[in-house]
Amino acid sequence: MSHPKLEVADIFRRHGQAWRTVNAGHVSRGQLRVMSAIEACRTAALGGHVERCEDCAHTRIAYNSCRNRHCPKCQWMAAQAWLEAREAELLPVPYFHVVFTLPAQIGAIAYQNKAKVYGLLFAAAAEALTTIAADPKHLGAEIGVTAVLHTWGQNLD
Ligand SMILES: [Zn+2]
Repeated sequence: MSHPKLEVADIFRRHGQAWRTVNAGHVSRGQLRVMSAIEACRTAALGGHVERCEDCAHTRIAYNSCRNRHCPKCQWMAAQAWLEAREAELLPVPYFHVVFTLPAQIGAIAYQNKAKVYGLLFAAAAEALTTIAADPKHLGAEIGVTAVLHTWGQNLD
């Protein structure tokens, strides 16, 4: 695996503080924590260890990972493994990608009541999909659903 020329961490380290200043009051503590974790990931800030080859005694310093679930460096392998596991479950039948979006006005309510609101969203989405698919005017079929929750949009809000 080759290193990309520019990583999210590079952008955060270079422009993160200025961006935080400009956006103060519009960024949650959770989002700030994610930025800090990504900035510190695999740097001396998180400490590290020395790896030594038993054969040639070559040593190298390896810095610790942040392990934040939003860190692209830490979660890339986990994301790939998850995708491969989902691909292994696919049946040789047509698939459809359907997106359900909550109105922005519900965002604050969802943030304060995550389990309840997301549970309602998943139940409503599944009911809508299975009801419409069962209708002979549409598929007339019993379907299966894999649902994924995206809590951040493209703009990370
Ligand atoms: Zn990380």
